[in-house]
Amino acid sequence: MARTDATATRGESEPLLSIENLQTAFFTDKEVIRAVDGVSFDIERGETVGVVGESGSGKSVTARSIMGLVDSPGRVLEGSSIRFDGEELTDKSEKEYRSIRGGDIAMVFQDPLTSLNPVYTVGNQIKESLRLHQDMRGAEATEEAIDLLEAVGIPDAARRVNEYPHEFSGGMRQRAVIAMALACDPELLICDEPTTALDVTIQAQILELLDDIQEERDLAIMFITHDMGVIAEISDRVNVMYAGEIVETAPVEELFANPRHPYTEGLLNSIPGNQPGADRLETIEGDVPTPNEPATYCRFEPRCPKAFEECTRVHPEPVAVTDGADDHTAACLLYPEDVSEAEAVELHERRGDGEEVTDR
Ligand code: SF4
Repeated sequence: MARTDATATRGESEPLLSIENLQTAFFTDKEVIRAVDGVSFDIERGETVGVVGESGSGKSVTARSIMGLVDSPGRVLEGSSIRFDGEELTDKSEKEYRSIRGGDIAMVFQDPLTSLNPVYTVGNQIKESLRLHQDMRGAEATEEAIDLLEAVGIPDAARRVNEYPHEFSGGMRQRAVIAMALACDPELLICDEPTTALDVTIQAQILELLDDIQEERDLAIMFITHDMGVIAEISDRVNVMYAGEIVETAPVEELFANPRHPYTEGLLNSIPGNQPGADRLETIEGDVPTPNEPATYCRFEPRCPKAFEECTRVHPEPVAVTDGADDHTAACLLYPEDVSEAEAVELHERRGDGEEVTDR
């Protein structure tokens, strides 16, 4: 993890990316799926923000919403705001979005083969990005493509630049995709489970590579994964997502030392080796529900070991946890801790009604 100055500058200037009340829904004949339901967070320049949660928590749809890649029957709803470098992206036309995508913001997916075209050499695909986004051509582009392959740790890059994707191993392909993303000289790199398909050794190498690249280029990274171990390695801050909502956010050390939301506790308890002496690995029973109705209650309630009656009728809003850092919030009716349960529930209710209520 690159401990950058980003955390120190948090709040001092406008963040590189600022998401406010992002809502992305899919409209089918049968139901409306609120895949992302009121998500807000910032990413500073040079910062790595991890987004963690099980499948179906809304992580990838959040990323696709930022990239302007939500396909019908889905759409980003009115009232959502995605500000990048001071500009509102939700107002952009598809044409305007195209120059941002792959330019200022680039994305690396889990399966490198979705980004690589099997019929073109790796070098030609990197050169195409260089032509489109940096107006670079000919020998200059070839040189740059070789430099980029070297920068992502591909040995014998001058020869391999002429090879096809099938001639690369899985780890090498993911490196090539990262090189393609860097060819656009982005300010923000969104990585959606980029190491999930790789074995642990290669995974560690890719995380190290991202760390080095970030330090060199002062790149902001949004890193999506379901793996808490990977989150610990790479993030400065962490957003924990569940059923379309962010349920806890904190700097990474704080989150691991002092998790407050029962879902985060469950995720941490299910990391192998985190429960020394335990006979069996703890798991969170059940599945993430499909968020197909407005959140007028806690969506984690059916799986929550700490649930109480009010959890089925009051929607928990994010509040600062009492003894954690100021930038540590949890969306759970158990907080704030320094008031009675009834007072905490009332605070969440009033917030949900749009009242401005301080946490204490
Ligand atoms: S609001 Fe209730 S059900 Fe939801 S996480 Fe908190 S205690 Fe559990």
